[in-house]
Amino acid sequence: MQMREATPEERKRFYAEEWSKRDLPDFILHTISLREFGFDYGEGPSHRYNQFMTVEQLASFLCNKAPYAAYASIALYEQPSMRKGWLKSELVFDVDAKDLPLKSCSCSGGVVCEKCLDEARRIAAMFAETLRSDLNLHNIHFVYSGRGFHVRATDDVVMAMEQTERTQIVEYVTGGVIPADITIALGYSRVFRERVARTFEHLGEEKLLKIRGMRKALAQQLIKEKEKIIAAVRRGSLREIEDFEGMGEKTFQQLLEFLTRLNMELTDGKVTTDTKRILRLPSSLHSGVSMKCILVRDIERFSIEDAIPKFMREGA
Ligand SMILES: [Zn+2]
Repeated sequence: MQMREATPEERKRFYAEEWSKRDLPDFILHTISLREFGFDYGEGPSHRYNQFMTVEQLASFLCNKAPYAAYASIALYEQPSMRKGWLKSELVFDVDAKDLPLKSCSCSGGVVCEKCLDEARRIAAMFAETLRSDLNLHNIHFVYSGRGFHVRATDDVVMAMEQTERTQIVEYVTGGVIPADITIALGYSRVFRERVARTFEHLGEEKLLKIRGMRKALAQQLIKEKEKIIAAVRRGSLREIEDFEGMGEKTFQQLLEFLTRLNMELTDGKVTTDTKRILRLPSSLHSGVSMKCILVRDIERFSIEDAIPKFMREGA
């Protein structure tokens, strides 16, 4: 997988020859005039407060300017060019492969590889599953953002939500708070245990040693018994972990809090709670990595191939 910065000429070519309004998702196409657009010409997304009345206006703008990056608000406004008259906002989750708390690859800095991108893809799919099964949402869209995935829910019930409700949803979906009862078979308690099990699965001894009160012998034992622990967590018998020699109530609590914090880092919670966010526009070019930001119709069958612009294929 090749990733590099696109040249201004390549950007021009992309918008002149490859960009198509057909690549805009319907949920954006049908609300274009109500969204605020933002653009980056190389110094960050500082050109905001743009409004387009029609898709043709947007198309000719993109073709003329060939921006480094293009964004659209998740919010709909009465006056998007002034960011005034907020009507509603999508509920979004940003799962960035470069920011995952635990990786099984060696990427660092702003770099991503197929492995961590696939991890991000699976986390996005997992979030969507919880939104469907537990919160009864049905209009969920996935977008490949270049370095990760966006999950965007457009159900009426979430579009109207304010920040506090969005904060609670982030906590629910990530497993970001310890439930009052961690043994219940359904609902949040189950989601929490699933996330804890997943996080624990990705943990190494080194990370465990960061927990206050964690001794080396105990950390080694926990890693050795990983499979058993994960099964116990899934069953709801988290207390079995407390019985490990040298664990005790206090260290167990620290471990639980540590895992919960890592769960929370699966997504950037600030993105979900900010109802005025702008997100990379599906159909646009991510010039930093020379990848197309695209709507993903089937997250299970996502292929990075679909996101490679023509100029990268020809250069390869
Ligand atoms: Zn990686």
